[in-house]
Amino acid sequence: MQRAVITGAGFGGLALGIRLQSAGIATTIVEARDKPGGRAYAWQRDGFTFDAGPTVITAPEVLRELWRLSGREMADDVTLVPVDPFYRLSWPDGTSFDYTNDDTRLRSEIAKLEPADIAGYARFLQYSTAVYDEGYVRLGTEPFLDWRSMAKAAPALVQHQAWRSVYATVSRFVKNEKLRQALSFHTLLVGGNPMTASAVYALIHKLEREGGVWFAMGGTGQLVAGMARQFERLGGTLRLNARVETIETLGDRATGVTLAGGDTIPADAVASNADLVHTYRHLLRGSRSAQRQADRLERKRFSPSLFLVHFGIKGSWPGIPHHMILFGPRYQGLLADIYDHGLLSEDLALYLHHPTVTDPDLAPPGHSTFYALAPVPHLGKFPADWEQVRPILEKRILDEVGRRLIPDIHERIVTKFSYAPNDFREDLGAHLGSAFSLEPILTQSAWLRAHNRDDSIPNLYLVGAGTHPGAGIPGVVASAKATAGLMLEGNVK
Ligand SMILES: Cc1cc2nc3c(=O)[nH]c(=O)nc-3n(C[C@H](O)[C@H](O)[C@H](O)COP(=O)(O)OP(=O)(O)OC[C@H]3O[C@@H](n4cnc5c(N)ncnc54)[C@H](O)[C@@H]3O)c2cc1C
Repeated sequence: MQRAVITGAGFGGLALGIRLQSAGIATTIVEARDKPGGRAYAWQRDGFTFDAGPTVITAPEVLRELWRLSGREMADDVTLVPVDPFYRLSWPDGTSFDYTNDDTRLRSEIAKLEPADIAGYARFLQYSTAVYDEGYVRLGTEPFLDWRSMAKAAPALVQHQAWRSVYATVSRFVKNEKLRQALSFHTLLVGGNPMTASAVYALIHKLEREGGVWFAMGGTGQLVAGMARQFERLGGTLRLNARVETIETLGDRATGVTLAGGDTIPADAVASNADLVHTYRHLLRGSRSAQRQADRLERKRFSPSLFLVHFGIKGSWPGIPHHMILFGPRYQGLLADIYDHGLLSEDLALYLHHPTVTDPDLAPPGHSTFYALAPVPHLGKFPADWEQVRPILEKRILDEVGRRLIPDIHERIVTKFSYAPNDFREDLGAHLGSAFSLEPILTQSAWLRAHNRDDSIPNLYLVGAGTHPGAGIPGVVASAKATAGLMLEGNVK
């Protein structure tokens, strides 16, 4: 293999591009939008910088590796700073819980909720460490191409009782309901319902404790820009404003891609970082095997969508930490509404991002940047006219932030806009407007997820949230390692 082309410059596409280019493969990344990043896009509005998506940077080592492959240091391009507390969790009754990496502080936070749960938490951390070692360190970058690879993982899945949910597992260790929420909500960050996501995803707790929670100065957009710079420095070609219309095939081989304007880029291997259903249904519309795969994918469960309100306001808020979770009055019931019933409930659970407390340069002097995010059902479950829902939900979310944290929020707003499920579909080609692709449940994990190499077209590869191991920056960057491993193994079989 000498030339490769990648459709899409999300974290997965960029990480794969860096790996291929570092190995001497002439790689072109073709991105439909005017900037790389995908879900990690960034906007500048009225002097404020808004990150569209990921803000919690975990497992920084997997990112640093992308520079070290060519003897460079990520720090030359990107400044990561630790975030403390990792998150402040807050409930409507005024209870709050600072989740930190400092054992003494963490223990005292647990004691505030339920002293008897300190010992249970220690046992949960042991469990989380064991699944992290097995599921992330050992198997996270392993391509699960056949059932035998899954069979090899089976004893560990049994040992860790992977059929249980994260919430059920946490509940075996701690009794306090708020602590159960605090230790199980993390699956939401990768699209999983804590009530149904496999207990294996409890590894996220250890992942955060092991590697910390970081923020890229200048915003996640600067991390993306740094990755794009590293890719181009290695000689890679990044084509922006270039939409792939077709992945070309001849017999059972991919031969390159054709762009919207008609340009063709020939390649020995093609990888797609675009949405799975978009890739198989639309980009490979000429391939019968791809259409069958699209049928299979459309029958799977997709993770919910999100509704985000971005707002820039007057004033500084040193008392509001960088990451907050504002739980609502219901946990299980709200999750069931989002994942199962397709209901947009009156009550909300929010993630609040406040980057200017770490990097004041993301807003004009004396101002602050925020986004508030609510998980909402995807378009398959809640096929609403989102242009009608948008102003209602926008107001409801701002009112809730106002009630809980910033009383005169509406008077302080300088700029605001929102991002809805239909935006995910239109901007990113996301199937059903899903924010995280396939839902992370046991029956859609590892071999049962989309494979990093297509089963029928052996020089067609996939990378990103829909593949193993799954969504989230550490997941998609790990998927790039798995995919690059397959592409570089002398492959193009
Ligand atoms: C609001 C939000 C908050 C999140 N927060 C966090 C967080 O704090 N921490 C964390 O680790 N993860 C977080 N995540 C998850 C994480 O952002 C995603 O899992 C990850 O960024 C997905 O990367 P990806 O490589 O799969 O591709 P994507 O980001 O989906 O990128 C795919 C790219 O392909 C392009 N594309 C699609 N079709 C075509 C085509 N035909 N031609 C050319 N290009 C095409 C798209 O334009 C896009 O740029 C968050 C996600 C969201 C939505």
